[in-house]
Amino acid sequence: MTVDLHTHSSASDGLFPPRELVREAKAAGLAGIGLTDHDTTAGLDEAEAEAARLGLFVVPGVELSATDQGREAHTLGYFIDRDNEPFQSALRTFVEQRSQRIDRMIDLLHELGIPVGRDAVLQRAGVGTVGRPHLAWELIEMGAADDMVDAFDRYLGTGKPAYVPRPRLAPEEAIRIIRSAGGAPVLAHPLSSPDPEALVARLVPAGLVGLEVDYGEYNAVERARLQQIAEQHALIPTGGSDFHAHNFKPGRDLGATAVPVEIVERLRDASERVRSAR
Ligand code: AMP
Ligand code: ZN
Ligand code: FE
Ligand code: FE
Repeated sequence: MTVDLHTHSSASDGLFPPRELVREAKAAGLAGIGLTDHDTTAGLDEAEAEAARLGLFVVPGVELSATDQGREAHTLGYFIDRDNEPFQSALRTFVEQRSQRIDRMIDLLHELGIPVGRDAVLQRAGVGTVGRPHLAWELIEMGAADDMVDAFDRYLGTGKPAYVPRPRLAPEEAIRIIRSAGGAPVLAHPLSSPDPEALVARLVPAGLVGLEVDYGEYNAVERARLQQIAEQHALIPTGGSDFHAHNFKPGRDLGATAVPVEIVERLRDASERVRSAR
């Protein structure tokens, strides 16, 4: 009985609508998923309804795109209270910043002579929050990139010609926002940081409760290193694939990385402790 605690639906930049994502999870043999869309909780109701129908469960989550010294320090929040109005207001700000950022990235692509259509990109995002993968899929469709990895290597990755940094959000602030909505904050793909040991040591006093030890792209040595950091700080070791679509990136297929359901109970307990400490 395992759960993939890091997935994206079309409510953000995943390809599958929430209900189809849950069907895919069932087909992959998972007991449940954590739905952690970027900056939105809009997919949760639909995912939960389908999960109830199919006998799976959904851990309500979100992923906030914090950065630290120019490097991604994404922060996951589990068991957040999605009806918390200040929380939703913060999400609306992030969603607006996403649209402005993608707009500027499209401008840069035009300056590079790549006539990517603004409407086409927005159409890919649909009602969901827009992200670089939508832009990447359009570049692939146009023949301007071979695949997701190529699109990021050539244009969209950090420091590449069409890259636009996002407005700064410190991981400490992301943790504060998640805790204020009663959620359990977890540092995602911690090896995005050049010094995960130091970053975690800083974030534990800020209220971090978990570390994504089992991440789709990490090998056994990397996971062992993260496991040790988690043990040192008594953090909940979580894990997931960071699924967006099939054939998105190697190691990132749904359920390719999953953790025992017991981890879900620990996250729920942590969220309850956050709520009683508020
Ligand atoms: P955004 O939220 O718009 O910054 O887009 C971030 C998303 O792009 C993440 O969810 C990643 O899965 C994906 N991504 C980031 N870097 C890369 C990369 N180098 N190759 C493929 N996908 C990436
Ligand atoms: Zn994403
Ligand atoms: Fe992330
Ligand atoms: Fe993610």
